[in-house]
Amino acid sequence: MDTHWKKKSQEDIKSIVFKALEENVNYDNQNILGIPASYLDDKVFNQDDAFVKQAPFISSLIQNPNHIGCHTLGKSESFFQGTQDIEKNLIEICAVDILNGESGKQDGYIASGGTEANIQAIWIYRNYFINEHAANREDICIICSEDSHYSMDKAANLLVLDIYKVPVDNDTREIKEETIREVIQECQNQNKKYFIVICNMMTTMFGSVDKVEAYTNQLTDLSCEFKLHVDGAYGGFYYPFIKEDSQLTFKNQHISSFTLDAHKMAQAPYGTGVFLIRKGYMQNVNTQQASYVEGEDYTLIGSRSGANAIAVWMILVKNGPFGWQEKVFILQKRTEWMCNQLNLLNIEYFRHPMSNIITIRSKYLNQETTSKFGLVPDNHAAPNWFKIVIMDHVTIEKLVLLIEDIKSSTPSDNMTN
Ligand SMILES: *Cc1c(COP(=O)(O)O)cnc(C)c1O
Repeated sequence: MDTHWKKKSQEDIKSIVFKALEENVNYDNQNILGIPASYLDDKVFNQDDAFVKQAPFISSLIQNPNHIGCHTLGKSESFFQGTQDIEKNLIEICAVDILNGESGKQDGYIASGGTEANIQAIWIYRNYFINEHAANREDICIICSEDSHYSMDKAANLLVLDIYKVPVDNDTREIKEETIREVIQECQNQNKKYFIVICNMMTTMFGSVDKVEAYTNQLTDLSCEFKLHVDGAYGGFYYPFIKEDSQLTFKNQHISSFTLDAHKMAQAPYGTGVFLIRKGYMQNVNTQQASYVEGEDYTLIGSRSGANAIAVWMILVKNGPFGWQEKVFILQKRTEWMCNQLNLLNIEYFRHPMSNIITIRSKYLNQETTSKFGLVPDNHAAPNWFKIVIMDHVTIEKLVLLIEDIKSSTPSDNMTN
């Protein structure tokens, strides 16, 4: 680990961010007359306030750099070069230090979230099959699991692709290799020739992790043309820090892209999805008509805030790689504590051993408890499960209260189980 990712002091972070902001355009001192952009309305957000001068993230928000486009690839808007370089460094940290890619071998950008990053991946692969294999749109399909995030359905709808879901085991949430085989064969029977496959690195509801070999063995065995994307929107800043010898890294040659969300486990502001892909693929979604943007646009979003990238970078370098491991270690320990308590009460739940999500069968919880503790159901209309997500603020003191509540309450009035 850690070629790019080094822990930094607050003073170093401040000087790096302020220096980067200085390298961007200055709307006050320079004559910048041609872009529909400026600092935030200074009647409301004053840059001269003393605290702002000490606060690199707030200053970034107020100076409002636009990170439109993809900065790991070709040219970018020169107006915001300073802070775009911080984003490039952040992409390297995520691709190389967290996901074991080789330095300089991945492209990426800070997307609005996991949804956009997943759609970006599927959009790229759809066009890749059309461009490189002369595929017809109808020949291409998406394969993911039943527990995959609903952004896959959005992508299928927007990009007009058929989507096939591999059923999961109701108890273990695992996908079996035979089931994958059946789904692929069903696709082939329906004349699908090109496969966009999504592998989960922690699902939203269960924290479960798909066994990537189960997909790649069967895809290879059935001679499929495929591209594999890993959805680590939830798990990207968690799982790689626990799982040694993870198969879900850029070392795995079958995988070409990842989604990570910094606004989940990394506690970054919303608007910080991370999209990462091996070099050579982004070109499939180059919108050349974006002719007013210097360097053109390879992203789904268009204009986006540079402050978001700066926030994620600040969070990662403030903690450093070892600080991050400690943070995740503490959450693992708390999750284990909670699982032990549930075991003592004979309550059925699902927990992946490398995850900080505990998903409890609804029959063990009554409605008062679930609403009092903000537990989230798999389905609001007919809940089968409720989850606890052990975040930074979910301390054992708070978990004790839930355990006491469960002990003292009558069993469920939740309908389905
Ligand atoms: C949250 C989540 C998403 C969607 O991310 P947004 O940032 O809400 O768009 C996608 N996949 C998984 C696994 C998620 O947990």
